[in-house]
Amino acid sequence: MSESPAANPSTAVVIGAGVIGLSCALGLARAGWTVTIVAEQPATETVSGVAGGIWFPYKAEASPRAERLLKTSFDRFVELADDPASGVDLVEGLWVERLPGTDRSWTASARNVRRAPEGEVPRGARDGIVAELPIIDMPTFLPWLAAQAAAAGVTTLEASVDSVGQALDVVLSASGATPALAVVAAGEHSGAILGDDSTGYPIRGQVVKLEQAGITHWLVDDDHEDGMIYVIPRRNDVVVGGTADEGETDTTYSQETEDAILRRAIEAYPALAGLAVKERAVGLRPARPALRLEEAEGPPVRTLAAYGHGGAGVTLCWGTAEEIVELAGPPANEPCGP
Ligand SMILES: Cc1cc2nc3c(=O)[nH]c(=O)nc-3n(C[C@H](O)[C@H](O)[C@H](O)COP(=O)(O)OP(=O)(O)OC[C@H]3O[C@@H](n4cnc5c(N)ncnc54)[C@H](O)[C@@H]3O)c2cc1C
Repeated sequence: MSESPAANPSTAVVIGAGVIGLSCALGLARAGWTVTIVAEQPATETVSGVAGGIWFPYKAEASPRAERLLKTSFDRFVELADDPASGVDLVEGLWVERLPGTDRSWTASARNVRRAPEGEVPRGARDGIVAELPIIDMPTFLPWLAAQAAAAGVTTLEASVDSVGQALDVVLSASGATPALAVVAAGEHSGAILGDDSTGYPIRGQVVKLEQAGITHWLVDDDHEDGMIYVIPRRNDVVVGGTADEGETDTTYSQETEDAILRRAIEAYPALAGLAVKERAVGLRPARPALRLEEAEGPPVRTLAAYGHGGAGVTLCWGTAEEIVELAGPPANEPCGP
């Protein structure tokens, strides 16, 4: 980092403009911080843009803390469902259970939860849970979230940085002020930017997005013997998945995988047959043994880590933002002039 004037005590930089960076930036701005996002790519072009957008704690930490974050996010999404512009809808669907002792803790937050009647449980499955969950239409939600952040005063600078110090320099040269607080929310690159954590790992996911023609219910069959199945009906498409390959970094789209995904999804959900493919996508879920939401040592200013959300970054975004705002505390007043 170059020689810089004293840090401005009420300014913060957030590294990352995915769903986590945007929600943290919005939370901090609403708490009185002057926030600048530094990000290589806008949200729609990140892993967040690949997400199906169902509220569900998939491949995320299971802990009392995570449950609190889940509940906070769930409640916020339920509120947002009253605002059509946010892209959030409450949708009923079926969670298929095939293994004994499947974790049902998520049902504590969900709405209108009931056991699926026998006739609705697929052949070979043990049980099923019907529930109403938020489905977040990501092509609507991410621009909405970015607009909310901008309206709260957040500015965004496009840059790739290797460290917190570099992000401070980017903000300093654009605004003449050095932030007093940094939040690292750069998904799978966060550990490298902080330089103190190499425990993150990717979980590759491939999805195919079909035209939306009257698909009204979600379906998740995670432990299907031929591979996971999920069907997420959004406003203008239906996201069909999927795969979850731990440690796999290749983001090349596989036609063979798509064929297999569609074969098993159509068998489970026959109404999908014949729907045209609108889009294809691969993303790397930013996983970690545990979510990292804490103060990090080392960078030249106070720094908070906000990453490791695995397959549940959308699901946990509002709870994460709340936690970061709490960790940050209120901004100090700017120093008075002479
Ligand atoms: C196929 C698939 C389906 C999914 N479905 C769901 C779902 O239904 N529900 C759910 O809750 N979650 C889902 N997820 C998981 C979810 O997408 C992630 O948990 C979430 O997007 C992580 O958000 P993030 O903001 O941490 O990271 P990202 O979205 O990856 O954003 C990272 C940001 O940091 C920036 N950045 C990175 N490195 C640098 C750098 N060096 N310098 C500057 N900027 C940098 C990027 O440009 C970007 O702006 C899914 C993921 C996949 C792959």
